[in-house]
Amino acid sequence: MTDLLKVRVENVTYEWIGKGNMAFGLFLELPIVTFDLKGVSAGKTIPQEWHIKYNYDYLFNNPKKFVDNTPAHEVAHLIEWKLYGKCGHKKNWKEIMHTFGFENPTRCHNYKIIL
Ligand SMILES: [Zn+2]
Repeated sequence: MTDLLKVRVENVTYEWIGKGNMAFGLFLELPIVTFDLKGVSAGKTIPQEWHIKYNYDYLFNNPKKFVDNTPAHEVAHLIEWKLYGKCGHKKNWKEIMHTFGFENPTRCHNYKIIL
């Protein structure tokens, strides 16, 4: 059975790539998207592999908050990597998030997780 939550997150991720390309004049390819991340983070970007890993437990338990925040957060890491060769949560990443309309981006994902 197709998991609509995963399809939704994939699509939102690709939309942010498109918005990033427009906003920064880039031609970024669509990243590999998987849902195999475990542990305390909602998402993790591996820019060298052009790969975003999402945590399905977080998605399942906080779908709206996840969809609204995590894809933009991770795509901003890919854009930072492309523009600056870095991947973090400091000035460059924050500026990209501001461009995306997130006034106060944080690195912490304060989702409640139900296990
Ligand atoms: Zn991050």
